Amino acid sequence: MSVSPDDLQRQALPVFDADQIAALRPWASERVTMPGDVLFEVGDSSYPLVVVLEGRTRILERSEGADRVIKESGPGEFHGDLGLLSGQRAFAACVAATEGRVLLVPPAAVREVIRTVPELSDLLVVAFVARRQILMQAASATLTIVGVEETASVRTLQEFLDRNRIPHRFIAQVDPAVTSVLAPFGYPPPAQTLVVVRGTRLLADPTPLDLARALGLDLVVDQTAPADLLVVGTGPAGLATAVYGASEGLSTVAIDNIAIGGQAGTSSRIENYLGFPSGISGGELAFRGEVQALKFGARVTVPRRATSLAAGDGCFVVGMDDGAELLGRAVVIATGARYRRLGLPEQDRFEGVGIYYAATDLEARFCGGNEVVVVGGGNSAGQASMFLSRHARRVHHVYRGSGLRASMSDYLIARLQRVPNIKLWFGTNVIALHGGAALEAVSLQGPQGDKVQLTVSAIFAMIGAEPCTEWLPSAVGLDPRGFVLTGPEVGAATAYETSMRGVFAVGDVRSGSVKRVASAVGEGSVVVQAVHRYLQESTPSVAPEPIAAGA
Ligand SMILES: Cc1cc2nc3c(=O)[nH]c(=O)nc-3n(C[C@H](O)[C@H](O)[C@H](O)COP(=O)(O)OP(=O)(O)OC[C@H]3O[C@@H](n4cnc5c(N)ncnc54)[C@H](O)[C@@H]3O)c2cc1C
Repeated sequence: MSVSPDDLQRQALPVFDADQIAALRPWASERVTMPGDVLFEVGDSSYPLVVVLEGRTRILERSEGADRVIKESGPGEFHGDLGLLSGQRAFAACVAATEGRVLLVPPAAVREVIRTVPELSDLLVVAFVARRQILMQAASATLTIVGVEETASVRTLQEFLDRNRIPHRFIAQVDPAVTSVLAPFGYPPPAQTLVVVRGTRLLADPTPLDLARALGLDLVVDQTAPADLLVVGTGPAGLATAVYGASEGLSTVAIDNIAIGGQAGTSSRIENYLGFPSGISGGELAFRGEVQALKFGARVTVPRRATSLAAGDGCFVVGMDDGAELLGRAVVIATGARYRRLGLPEQDRFEGVGIYYAATDLEARFCGGNEVVVVGGGNSAGQASMFLSRHARRVHHVYRGSGLRASMSDYLIARLQRVPNIKLWFGTNVIALHGGAALEAVSLQGPQGDKVQLTVSAIFAMIGAEPCTEWLPSAVGLDPRGFVLTGPEVGAATAYETSMRGVFAVGDVRSGSVKRVASAVGEGSVVVQAVHRYLQESTPSVAPEPIAAGA
């Protein structure tokens, strides 16, 4: 489902009518403005929704030494974005251009309006989503990465930014434009990768967490007040848990170590998810899920990796990679799985410079009209070949089994067979990788032991995944492959509870789960009822269980 640029503009720039402004007034304060009055500034940790009543106001990007007008608004129009719901710092400044009057609605009140006034809720949330999409497409100069294309550090940052839909641009170290971008910083420190944030701050070799902090994306989590529900992992399962938990009145915190959307967020097109007959990209599905979770009041934060889980005093304590701790009265483990590696000599050398585990627009940039290899027999491998066939000169789809019927959906097999620049290799293994600084060729071995070398620029490993459970304590029982055991197998009363009472597991991380978006979403929504029951039993007064229809 894609929205045309005209529709996106219309959705992004609605005009409030008199009734809608009247409905907002109880949450707002009115302010008289003079030209140059700053209504919020870049980096402000809290900023209001600004509705123009009279006169004109401007959103300014204070980047690389000069102000740039991003948007000027008149009566009925408003300034505000998704950051109002997630608690982000202001990316831009809002300044009065003329004398006039504005309504200022603080972020907490905006969230309350969205929760309680449906006619304003839809207008605001759709506008926020559309605005962020337009910003992303414009790739403004707010954030600039200077480095060497295809190096692991650049790719890690790009993956973090792309999957979080944060506007940025990349300039190769050899590009003459680098001089003007770095000029304000004198002699930059020796670093492989530099990131310029808003033209005012230079980061040398930052991690995604450094970057998130510099951008004000790091939510301040109140560690003294445990959330009712702490969700670890925000793939489809964790996001669904957050949406249903928050919408049913639980104070909900969800965390993720990379980006919202999980594995699904890396899929170029999901075609078997109910309600999207022509498919939806994983990024868009994740984005919509994020908006929905925020709309219901969940607090979602990235990038934070859970490193430990322990039972504390009346609640659970999840330790984080930055040393901080989060508290939750119930915990849902939704950390999914990570891609299995090829297990070949030389593999480390080509990680990020020829070996990829997802096939999205990000990776497609590295195909550059060359030949590529996709390895695997599942649906994700089939989708990757279909997608890459539009970017690569030829796709070699390599599978060690004798056919795809047992592992791939019929519709995908039929499509693969029809695309002229996809070549299928069965009973075949990749046995070696070759190249200098980047991958240049691979060796294949066929069913009769015959060997062939192919000149390729990339290999996409779509050969399954391992559960992300290394952070869990031994009290959480795992199956022999490391997936979390739940339900009767560990003596739990409900299907998704683990061997640790009050700790639940859903989605791909759960032993025996169906590895699909829809089933992950289903498990995430169903588990909330068991969480309610657990909370009610442990503290009856605070978490009434919702009454199921027909009960
Ligand atoms: C390329 C690709 C295409 C696919 N296409 C389809 C499709 O078309 N249809 C379909 O039904 N399924 C598809 N799948 C499968 C589907 O995406 C998964 O089944 C689904 O994403 C599982 O959801 P999940 O939430 O359980 O786990 P995941 O999606 O794996 O999400 C887990 C999240 O937890 C985070 N995490 C992990 N460890 C930690 C930690 N220690 N601390 C904090 N966070 C952590 C991860 O960063 C991740 O965001 C595809 C998968 C891939 C890779």
